[in-house]
Amino acid sequence: MQNLLHNLNPEQLAAVTLPSQSALILAGAGSGKTRVLTTRIAWLIQTGQVSPGGILAVTFTNKAAKEMLTRLSALLPINTRGMWIGTFHGLCNRLLRAHHRDAGLPQTFQILDSGDQLSFIKRLLKANNIDDEKFPPRTLMYFINSAKDQGLRAAQVEAHDDFNRKMVALYDLYDAQCQREGVVDFAELLLRTFELLSRNQPLREHYQARFRHILVDEFQDTNDLQYQWLKLMAGAGKQESAAVFAVGDDDQSIYAFRGANVGNMSAFEREFQVRNLIKLEQNYRSHGHILDSANVLIANNSKRLGKNLRTDAGHGEPVRIMEASSDIQEANWIIDEAKNLIREGSLRSEIAILYRSNAQSRVIEHALFTAGIPYRVYGGQRFFERAEIKHAIAYLQLMDNPHNDSAFLRVVNFPARGIGARSMEQLQDAARQHGISLYAAVPHVGGKAGSSLANFVRLIESARFETQNLPLPEMVQVVLDLSTLLTHYQTEKEGADRIENLEQLVSAATLFVSEEGFSREAPALAGPASAAALPAAADGVTVIDADAALPAVMSPLSAFLSHASLEAGDNQAQAGQDALQLMTVHSAKGLEFDAVFITGLEEGLFPHENSMQEASGVEEERRLMYVAITRARQRLYLSFSQTRMLHGQTRYNMRSRFLDELPDESLKWLSPKIQPSWFGNKKSAWDEAPAAEANRLAQGMSKAQDSHGWRIGQNVLHAKFGEGVIVNIEGSGSSARAHINFGQFGMKLLDLSIAKLDKI
Ligand code: ATP
Ligand code: MG
Repeated sequence: MQNLLHNLNPEQLAAVTLPSQSALILAGAGSGKTRVLTTRIAWLIQTGQVSPGGILAVTFTNKAAKEMLTRLSALLPINTRGMWIGTFHGLCNRLLRAHHRDAGLPQTFQILDSGDQLSFIKRLLKANNIDDEKFPPRTLMYFINSAKDQGLRAAQVEAHDDFNRKMVALYDLYDAQCQREGVVDFAELLLRTFELLSRNQPLREHYQARFRHILVDEFQDTNDLQYQWLKLMAGAGKQESAAVFAVGDDDQSIYAFRGANVGNMSAFEREFQVRNLIKLEQNYRSHGHILDSANVLIANNSKRLGKNLRTDAGHGEPVRIMEASSDIQEANWIIDEAKNLIREGSLRSEIAILYRSNAQSRVIEHALFTAGIPYRVYGGQRFFERAEIKHAIAYLQLMDNPHNDSAFLRVVNFPARGIGARSMEQLQDAARQHGISLYAAVPHVGGKAGSSLANFVRLIESARFETQNLPLPEMVQVVLDLSTLLTHYQTEKEGADRIENLEQLVSAATLFVSEEGFSREAPALAGPASAAALPAAADGVTVIDADAALPAVMSPLSAFLSHASLEAGDNQAQAGQDALQLMTVHSAKGLEFDAVFITGLEEGLFPHENSMQEASGVEEERRLMYVAITRARQRLYLSFSQTRMLHGQTRYNMRSRFLDELPDESLKWLSPKIQPSWFGNKKSAWDEAPAAEANRLAQGMSKAQDSHGWRIGQNVLHAKFGEGVIVNIEGSGSSARAHINFGQFGMKLLDLSIAKLDKI
């Protein structure tokens, strides 16, 4: 007993040993909420207040559930297998499997993930001859999911106009078809369990009697249905209700966009007659400068329940901030710093690199790959392994070598072009019979199948023809268009993300070409540089060895494709191997690392542009930044870049407002390694740093253009708006225009050929 409790501070101890009543632990990051929750489970069991089977604990991710079970087995000599500790979805799945008949489901019901769900909806619309322009599948999916998240079936949704009436009717059709096929979506798992228990009194009473203690981690991110589900499970309001122990932090509520309702915290206090509200204010995770940064940042939010955090750990290292000239330089700086940490003895797995959106990981992955540092990407796939990238690569592979059958199979009917299993069977027979590739066998297939297949071959041929003189990045762009991959993903699950990734492929090609020393204009399909250009050996025979530069041995396209496969397949950290951790800020919730890098701290990226229109959006982004900062124990590194290749375009962003909200005393600004900062310089940085310009050109990132002598970063004086700084230039010659930040007058777009500007 002593053992279990002796590592707790007085508030934690009070929380762990609360009497069996509902309680809310409201506390900031790193204050030990998860530890308290786990220790309470152990304490309840050890003191005989409840058996392991009488506990229901809800965590936010499967990973967290596993971790909790591991910690429990370390604390107690019990077998934790079979304990009801899991996510809402996992626990509901388990209940529905056990009571499938009562729930009206086949025993083998299958779960649709959101991708499956969208395909399912498309099929449904088609089968019912519904115009999917009027009723876009994704809109319908969102409609259905948010109704379910509020606990509403089609019959309960109020529709006030024709459109909504139709959506409701489709929702009904959708549910009926799911039922026929024996499938359930994510929200259905919860709703179905909720309905089962509401309707079935014996079952409900059974579970209410069984689970005397319900514990919920990350309570701030529960949605309405989850909250109702908890109320039902606990028998809230009844004499014999279960004790619900909820821990959460309103400052870490980051899922409002998915229906999470932080208001559930006050509802909980009221409806569960919470008499025990405990705040934990001692932080055990982070050193002082890191914690101060988090506290000062989050104080900028208006809607807070109010609490603070302190630490005994001392100030520790200052938070280091790096301004890079490009995203590539940013990545290289991170790698250098990470190497230093590793040299000093840090485990790779104790270093995390966080970013706001998945598309940012490509440049970082590339730098890690080049440096030969093992890494693991969480909550997302490695760039070249993503399905949409693999599809695009398959088209390029077929253009490079049409006899690559796996590439053929991957995209022959993707996006769908009416080539079904029967046609493929015929084609495979023909290929087998003649001993040739699928591509080559197409002319041997007749009939309707043959003509659809021939159309696909024509598509590949025309992509080849149309791109034969184009450099690699342009070729990739044309292929994305011709293959209709881009249009396809416009209607797909998380299409925006996938389109973003496809555009990143264009950026990857641009970077690849310049790094490998191909000329920027070199046609992607052309063979190796002519033998004549290579130094000839004495006997006149040209020698090309394995060390020769790529342009000498491969076309840009072939070289790029082999790079893609190598980077996808190789250097993959093995399970258990000590690897750097890459993830989005969202997926870092609840985790901690010795050292954390938060990258891309730029306006539009973090805070994300989609959230910048409303104050509540910025507040949610700020909470996300708070989550990110508080992941770090000892070292925190923040970085931003003046230029960034995103969506296949170079962007010039201002640094994130969050950086300016941090306390100066805790920060250490590092000067960029390649060149001085552009912003705030009296003289144009370009004047002083021709090498940097050359560098950017070499990276293929400059829009070399006639801008009337103006440069990004130039400080200017305007007769009306006063002093400003050029943050972007677009167009050239007479159509050149500049975005200029005039401070109090804001951002202006001025025509450079006519604006009256002076350099200062
Ligand atoms: P988050 O809000 O990020 O989920 P949390 O409040 O759940 O954080 P924990 O992860 O439980 O915090 O704890 C943070 C760290 O502090 C962990 O490494 C934990 O082991 C440690 N810790 C918590 N309480 C104590 C304590 N009393 N003494 C020493 N270490 C502690
Ligand atoms: Mg936690």
